[in-house]
Amino acid sequence: MYNTKAYSAVSETSPLASTTIERREPTEHDVQLSILFCGVCHSDLHSVRNEWSSFTSTVYPIVPGHEIVGRVTKVGSAVTKYQPGDIAAVGCLVDSDGTCPQCKAGFEQFCLNQTLTYNSPDKHLGGVTKGGYSDSIVVDERFVLRVPTNLDLAGVAPLLCAGITTYSPMRHWGVTKGKKVGVVGLGGLGHMGVKFARAFGAQVVVFTTSPDKKEDALRLGADEVVVSRNADEMQKHAGSFDFILDTVSAKHDINAYLNLLRRDGNITLVGAPEKPLDVSAFSLIMGRRSLSGSNIGGIPETQEMLDFCGEHNITADVEVIPIQKVNEAYERLLKSDVKYRFCIDMASLKSE
Ligand code: NAP
Ligand code: ZN
Repeated sequence: MYNTKAYSAVSETSPLASTTIERREPTEHDVQLSILFCGVCHSDLHSVRNEWSSFTSTVYPIVPGHEIVGRVTKVGSAVTKYQPGDIAAVGCLVDSDGTCPQCKAGFEQFCLNQTLTYNSPDKHLGGVTKGGYSDSIVVDERFVLRVPTNLDLAGVAPLLCAGITTYSPMRHWGVTKGKKVGVVGLGGLGHMGVKFARAFGAQVVVFTTSPDKKEDALRLGADEVVVSRNADEMQKHAGSFDFILDTVSAKHDINAYLNLLRRDGNITLVGAPEKPLDVSAFSLIMGRRSLSGSNIGGIPETQEMLDFCGEHNITADVEVIPIQKVNEAYERLLKSDVKYRFCIDMASLKSE
């Protein structure tokens, strides 16, 4: 074991603060990374504040962070894909059983024995796993991703969660040229959703509660922007969408969006609000519409997404912050004041 610097919260009401944590020495299949950048996902905030306690309770102290890009510093004797000096990435998963039907199909995100990057039982050290708001991490090579060499690394980090979480359902539901696609909420996930829908050739409409994001939405690739609080603007799109991706982090009226789907249209929830959403049966029955959910993506698809981003020069729009500003960043997330992903420059942790 060795010690590494990190930021953790000790309770659901505590701010994140500097600490020291233990990491395992790399075993034969492990890759050790020196972390360069880590994105700030709204899921980090939900977890730190224990907002998902009805699904999974947070174990304190928590070290969040699952959008990790780093430089390989050490590899185990059986590692074949990475060597010291390589740039590599880690997302929301660091292990799974590898033997169940989900894992065999490349859907590690649905494995019942998965290990998340933070707040999952740690098979090696006991306690729970600790995430990317830290100087260094050790991960089984099966869960380490290759990073295209042409991309800005701060903008790559958010691809590991915001990127794959929006890419995967759009691929699954056949977002292509000729489809009319909505993206609800222009935050970290939403802005990646817009970029992917555009890259897949769809007609893209952004739904936002923030009128001042209109110009950005168009710049990011939207064909049209609807301020969702304006009922007339919403009504104009009734019954017209093939697919809508809902990335909203708080309770909101899902029926307003179900009613915008055409016959057999689908809305997929990736946003994970603390409180349940109310669904009207009629919004689904009328038009044989469907409502579904999606969880990040498996390792093969995450690599496919990163390679796609390399080919199409896609990265997240980031506001790079030192780790000392992370509590402020959380407050701004709650006000929908992020353009469009905070990304921590982990060099700032060295001065702690
Ligand atoms: P974010 O950057 O904070 O973006 C959320 C956006 O939702 C905001 O920018 C805002 O967009 C909109 N919004 C916020 N509060 C709202 C409200 N009360 N009513 C309507 N719209 C509101 O968050 P994120 O990192 O993109 O994450 C979004 C959600 O996805 C979170 O719940 C997160 O936990 C979840 N998530 C799920 C997965 C998965 O695998 N399913 C993966 C990652 C994250 P406008 O200003 O444009 O309205
Ligand atoms: Zn995330």
